[in-house]
Amino acid sequence: MTLISPRRGDDPGPLPPGRPGYAGLRYSDVAEAMDEGLLIMDRQGRVLESNENLRAIVGSTQERLASVQVDMPYWEVVDEHGAPLAVADYPFTLAVTEGKATRGMVLGITVPGGTRRWVRMNVIPMSPPEGEDVIVITAIDVTKERAGIAALAAAEHRYRLASENAPIGIAIVDPDGTLIDSNEALCRLLGYRREDLVGKTFHEITHPDDLAVDIAHVHELLEGSADTYRIEKRYLTQEGRVIWAQLSVALARDEHGKPLYFISMIEDISSQREAHLALAHRATHDELTGLPNRTLLLDRAQQALAQSQRDGTSVALLFCDLDHFKLVNDSRGHQIGDAVLIETARRFAGNIRGGDTAARLGGDEFVVLCPQLGSPHEVERVAQRLIDMLTEPMSGAPGGVTMTVSVGIAFSGPGVTAHELLRNADAAMYKAKTSGRDRFALFSPDLISQATERLDMERELRDAIRTEALYLDYQPVCRLADGHVIGYESLVRWRHPQRGVLNPAVFLPFAESSDLVLEIDRWVLEEACRTATGWGNGPDAPDLTVNISARHIGRGLLPGLVAHVLRESGLRPQRLLLEITETALLGMTPTAASELDTLVHLGVSLAIDDFGTGYSSLAHLVDVPATYAKIDRSFVSEMTRSPARRAIVAAVISLCQALNITVIAEGIEEEGQRDLLRSMGCNFGQGYLLGRPGSKLR
Ligand code: C2E
Ligand code: MG
Ligand code: MG
Repeated sequence: MTLISPRRGDDPGPLPPGRPGYAGLRYSDVAEAMDEGLLIMDRQGRVLESNENLRAIVGSTQERLASVQVDMPYWEVVDEHGAPLAVADYPFTLAVTEGKATRGMVLGITVPGGTRRWVRMNVIPMSPPEGEDVIVITAIDVTKERAGIAALAAAEHRYRLASENAPIGIAIVDPDGTLIDSNEALCRLLGYRREDLVGKTFHEITHPDDLAVDIAHVHELLEGSADTYRIEKRYLTQEGRVIWAQLSVALARDEHGKPLYFISMIEDISSQREAHLALAHRATHDELTGLPNRTLLLDRAQQALAQSQRDGTSVALLFCDLDHFKLVNDSRGHQIGDAVLIETARRFAGNIRGGDTAARLGGDEFVVLCPQLGSPHEVERVAQRLIDMLTEPMSGAPGGVTMTVSVGIAFSGPGVTAHELLRNADAAMYKAKTSGRDRFALFSPDLISQATERLDMERELRDAIRTEALYLDYQPVCRLADGHVIGYESLVRWRHPQRGVLNPAVFLPFAESSDLVLEIDRWVLEEACRTATGWGNGPDAPDLTVNISARHIGRGLLPGLVAHVLRESGLRPQRLLLEITETALLGMTPTAASELDTLVHLGVSLAIDDFGTGYSSLAHLVDVPATYAKIDRSFVSEMTRSPARRAIVAAVISLCQALNITVIAEGIEEEGQRDLLRSMGCNFGQGYLLGRPGSKLR
């Protein structure tokens, strides 16, 4: 192959003299050795020479090229941006017309066949020392390279688009923590303009409390001990708001492993977190009062106990149970009941020390946990404060409800768990209740055995009702004038498998602490009414007196039960007398009052039992539709010895006479008592003198 146009006719020969050692190397050899395409034109634009590379680039032959004139639009040429170029602006035209050299210009050339080749070329006019001036064109095919760049640009564009439109925030962060770039979502999330956000460090936009954790993770990435990390953290927005986000970070490194930048994805999880927190709050808090619930309380108690072991302090738990709360609920309605609970919670929570916890276990049970106590006496003061807090009438309960509370106190001790602490305080609270309510009591170990006994007793009693281990004794009620029996009072007994026959005073309190007593009342009513029908049904048949538990009053259950039992047994209602203890009438609710009226309408009579032992006795005599009052045994037994007791009995008898209430004296054991009562105008009585409770009538 020659390098010189066939029109020149001959080979240019060896390289110019002065370059010894290259002698014999021809232009054509050099031209073929080049990577570039080479083309030589004369100053008229006629192609003189081309090498193989060049012909490959433009897809032509030497012959074809030889016939080409530079100003012929043989090639369609565009600039590097794809804009068509006028023939006059072709670099080779400029070289021809103006002698202008062009270097490194990228052109698109559409070659025969229609494909476009991208070519970077130098077009240099030259004047060799000998011969005519020429234009030397070298060209490199950059089509592939350009395609690569275009693909890269497209990819980058796509990435930008994706990043810009991503619903989550994306930031590129320098290894030193400076934000190099951020997408729109992150700007929106943090309330910054991009130009303000870029250049800040992530420290500046992180909540101070979450910074240490974040930095620790960053170090792990930089040290190479982790590839990525993902944490939940708080960011500060431009306006200073706190938002929760899920942050996922990866570190990009160069091919030598040197850290280049962090890619951080930041997803707003504030609303998820809120929902999550709300759920968690609901699981650990009481809905009505917002106080911590049992779960959270036990958790805190556990922590407090652990802490107390470390620092040698002690923990106290105060178990608070409102007194007679049920009464408020039943008489004033649940709304008022709720208002009382909310107000109690507010007072308790608002008046405890910083580290203390006020919790609600449910119902009317509250707990105050006092960790890190110096001395046990502190707690007694706390307990008294809790009691005093309720003396003010409750707001939110019109008509002014005041409450009292019974508080049990238990202290931590070696090996005492949170559950035990709670159980101990509960046992102490029970003691506060049984010693008169509206007070606090301290836990002592014997209370636990009592509590266990209570539970055992309750269980056994439940069985006793089922297995008919209960039975009734009947004690005569007599006319004092002649001892004539006008009726019998049924008195329940329990034939205990181990302990023998138990009197109601032993086991009824256990039944009273739960609703078990309602079942006992039902059983007694049914059994006694059935038995009493066996005593005849004529006008002379003795009456039946049945004791009804205080817990039964005001529930709305009694009238239905009594009507049912009368119907089933066939006992005339006029023969049935129901005894209700005076204490049961304490805080009589409208429900309870209407219940008693209904009973009277059924034809049943009512008696106030143990009269004189409760409070405000005189008012009850007027309020309650009772036809009988039973003077308590304690008055009768003392009346012959104590003038004061005698005076009270006399007053009660004359008052009852004025109100048309028949008095029955209880516990007459001596003739003197009977005679004194008669002389005072009391016509009826019971007692061992007149007849012991017995089974004769069963
Ligand atoms: P209460 O209704 O005042 O019954 C009178 C109590 O005094 C009975 O004791 C009776 O055995 C006792 N008693 C009678 N006469 C004398 C006497 O002359 N001297 C002495 N020292 N005691 C006498 P009991 O049977 O142990 O009953 C105690 C309380 O248990 C009763 O007091 C009543 O409130 C309650 N109770 C008894 N049976 C039932 C029942 O079936 N249902 C309910 N809910 N309570 C009952
Ligand atoms: Mg009685
Ligand atoms: Mg009595």
